[in-house]
Amino acid sequence: MSLLLGPMQQHIPGRKSLTDHSDVKVLMPKERVFIPLFAGPVTKYDLLVSEGDHVDIGTRLANTKSAFDVPLYSSVSGTFKGLVKKPHSSLKPQLHFEIELDPVQTSIQAFEPLNWENASQEEMVSFMKETGIIGQGGAGFPTYVKYLKPQGIHTLIINAVECEPFITADYKVIMDNVEDFIHGCRILLKMSTGKECLIAIKKTHPDLIDYVNKEIQKEGLSDIKVVPVPDVYPMGGERTLVRTLLKKNFKRLPAEVGAIVNNANTAILTARAFEKGEAISKKYVTFSGEALNYPTNVLVPVGMSVAEILENIGGIKDNLASCRLIAGGPMMGKAMVSDQICIDRAMNAITVLKDEEEPAMTCMRCGRCTAHCPVGLQPVRIANAVKMNDVAEMEKRGAMQCIECGLCTYVCPSKIQVTENVRKAKRTLAMKNRRGN
Ligand code: SF4
Ligand code: SF4
Repeated sequence: MSLLLGPMQQHIPGRKSLTDHSDVKVLMPKERVFIPLFAGPVTKYDLLVSEGDHVDIGTRLANTKSAFDVPLYSSVSGTFKGLVKKPHSSLKPQLHFEIELDPVQTSIQAFEPLNWENASQEEMVSFMKETGIIGQGGAGFPTYVKYLKPQGIHTLIINAVECEPFITADYKVIMDNVEDFIHGCRILLKMSTGKECLIAIKKTHPDLIDYVNKEIQKEGLSDIKVVPVPDVYPMGGERTLVRTLLKKNFKRLPAEVGAIVNNANTAILTARAFEKGEAISKKYVTFSGEALNYPTNVLVPVGMSVAEILENIGGIKDNLASCRLIAGGPMMGKAMVSDQICIDRAMNAITVLKDEEEPAMTCMRCGRCTAHCPVGLQPVRIANAVKMNDVAEMEKRGAMQCIECGLCTYVCPSKIQVTENVRKAKRTLAMKNRRGN
């Protein structure tokens, strides 16, 4: 950690007006979906359907296994054609369920709802595991894991900040489902064993703050509060959020300082699972960026291809080769080489920008990257260690703590891809840890 901590955050133009006040487009694929088996670090799976089987919306397709197990349900009804490898937003080809759609969609209840007000904490966690809900904040980690054995938790933080530029999917999903949102907060609060739930929303969205506050008042809740937070990046990062709301720093997990953090859409999915027996099937996804003809939010089944969605919303201004297609937002998202990737259960945005990267100049040792790092790292020192292939120095400088927020690259006046170098350091250290030397 740097001794000279700077602002550790930065205001970034949000470009939210491109999509936040236009209608959400509801789309269905013409013929088929490809549902990624992969979400989070899946290593093994048990297939529960065979080629040629008919599936409904809500049919359990597989039990996936990683460090933690989580089931996967179908987002459409149709015929299971088999598992195929396709490009994926993890940057590696992954297995996908190919399902040919029925002309008329049919659904079943994925599981029996649970009367959560009467259920014990253990019953709620075990139910949560069966719902297959994974975190909607990006990493796609199974949600139940955070609630397994909560100790000393006093605060549940619901992250509705959406600090990445362009993305408005959470804003839209809350606006359309505010009752489910508040029910989800209540369920997660009970499961967390905490005393209060703080919903963090940017001050620049007063309409959303007002709307959520009215719903809280309508339900007469005193343990759930909205906390308006400044419009700075990365306010939606767990560390920055916990530091802002609780004035505390943690090393590895928010639970160390008595908090659990979940994304806003995770709360909505939780309410639907507990109260209606629904698994994740449809997703709000923001398609935005200057390179699109008509930026918009879409509501689509998991597994619809990005190429088909782009075709339905008016496409790209120029051509794909002259653009940067990013899964996620421009700061933390991953650049894709193909529009054949499909919407997965954790994805909330596709950003398409003109490819106009400026050439890098020499580092002028201004220290801006260090002053702005929300984790308190010295990114330029890590980048130098990467150039020298000095693995011990990468470790000493704490490269593995980097949350890949992209801020060091954003603030660098020399246009150096600092974040990319820190990512390389993380990959080098991960490989070293796997080899065990
Ligand atoms: S990308 Fe990593 S090193 Fe760079 S500012 Fe963000 S957390 Fe710090
Ligand atoms: S912000 Fe850029 S120029 Fe300044 S110290 Fe960091 S890498 Fe060097």
